[in-house]
Amino acid sequence: MSTTIDQVPSAAELVPMNSLYIGGRWLTPAGRERIPVLNPATEAVIGSIVDADDSDVAAAFSAARQALGEWSARPVAERAAYLDALADALRENGESLAVLATSEIGMPLAESRGVQAALPEAVLRSTADAARELRWQYRDSSGSTVLREPVGVVLGITPWNFPVHQLVAKLAPALAAGCTIVLKPAELTPLNALFLAQLCDQIGLPAGVVNLVTGRGSTTGEKLVQSRAYDLVSFTGSLAVGRHIGAVAGDRVVRATLELGGKSPAVVMDDADLEVAVRTTVRNCFTNAGQKCNAPTRLIVPETGRSQAMEIATAAAAEYRLGDPLDAATTMGPLASDVQRNKVLRYVDGARQRGATVAGGRPGDGPVGFFVEPAVITDVDEDDPIVHEEIFGPVLVILGHRGETDAIRIANDTPYGLSAELWSTDPATTTRLVRGIRAGQVRINGVRSPHPPVAPFGGYKASGLGRELGSFGLEEYLEVKAVLGTFEGEAG
Ligand code: NAP
Ligand code: MG
Repeated sequence: MSTTIDQVPSAAELVPMNSLYIGGRWLTPAGRERIPVLNPATEAVIGSIVDADDSDVAAAFSAARQALGEWSARPVAERAAYLDALADALRENGESLAVLATSEIGMPLAESRGVQAALPEAVLRSTADAARELRWQYRDSSGSTVLREPVGVVLGITPWNFPVHQLVAKLAPALAAGCTIVLKPAELTPLNALFLAQLCDQIGLPAGVVNLVTGRGSTTGEKLVQSRAYDLVSFTGSLAVGRHIGAVAGDRVVRATLELGGKSPAVVMDDADLEVAVRTTVRNCFTNAGQKCNAPTRLIVPETGRSQAMEIATAAAAEYRLGDPLDAATTMGPLASDVQRNKVLRYVDGARQRGATVAGGRPGDGPVGFFVEPAVITDVDEDDPIVHEEIFGPVLVILGHRGETDAIRIANDTPYGLSAELWSTDPATTTRLVRGIRAGQVRINGVRSPHPPVAPFGGYKASGLGRELGSFGLEEYLEVKAVLGTFEGEAG
């Protein structure tokens, strides 16, 4: 596949392949299984990683534990300054990081520049600010002193869909809080994580504060989770794995924060501009080929406008240009893997067989790459799997509602509650919808992502436990200590 970018550095030039970053050193363990990393647009092997074993896992936790005392004792301003330095490094290396992430995940480069480089940079800076602003020590009305202290050694496990952002959304608050961290990136997208670890090394973070181990979820991930060496596990990924990790953590009574995806509604009331609402929903749903945990995948419009909404959405979906994600003309890349492509095609074919009206949703017609045309689906039963299960692909389902109460009922008829989008010009209707829908984030009339990225992000119901970003994200990494009696200690 050709590309319009002339000098794209190869992944091998950018990161130390087959290496783990532990205790401030790059280790290339001999005898570990190597796992190839593919470019999902070309199916070419662009690198490989090692499947870390028990001894690597033990070494990573040991390095993190050893670094904890010294790191947590540093003044907050110093820790925050490291986050700013890492943000500067991301800015300087943003283009390489965006290209690398695009090569791994297949996201169009323009999207990668935003969410794999600019967003994590902003998350680092805003988390540094949140740490500087936090009341680390105060006296309450009883005269007791309340102290905020780091929870300890953190295990961070992340998925592949927004790989740099998801790593930074754990690393930034952990470090700001005074924790040390062991990260395991997704097996599909580990190279950007190696790149990020290099930047941590370059800015001179003390050895052991950030450690990176690679490998499969079922091998390395499971060993990390089963180790008794962490004080908090922060996980982003599927509901099934999140349940398992939450159960292990619960059994040991260590804290788990879980970000587990969704089946988010976009609710359109009859006073809204249907064309604008539908087109915006299509765009938000198909970002990163629909591989987005907060994608609005259920468009809920007035029943009387459903066929018109289907027409508008079908036309908007047909405008996507699938192709090389490094080509500026491409607006949708491939799915992340053959597994993901096949899963999406199975869902769409299943709906078609059950009598749904389906536009698009066919495999891409090129010889290589895990491409799927965006799909818009309607005429489905409310209890169809396509309406209830997280598909994680470019699939939008359109449902009809019969007024406000019915719209709220359908919006909430899901195990998930990560996000919701609302469209109405009436403030009273909007208020009732905001209050009525159980979701961690509600977006009104197409508002874009908040900047700086400090609005709490996370889910009600099966979408997870805890929040990321801003001061709420920082809070997850902190313990609270009440000191009763005379205490003169200085704030950190
Ligand atoms: P996943 O299996 O939950 O993987 C997320 C992370 O957990 C990856 O690093 C994975 O490693 C690791 N992992 C898997 N099994 C583990 C275990 N037993 N112990 C410890 N770590 C483990 O999700 P996925 O395979 O990336 O995607 C599957 C589905 O999850 C998607 O189709 C989508 O529905 C959902 N998903 C949700 C989000 C979200 O943001 N909420 C993001 C991605 C995916 P490996 O990469 O090696 O499997
Ligand atoms: Mg998996």
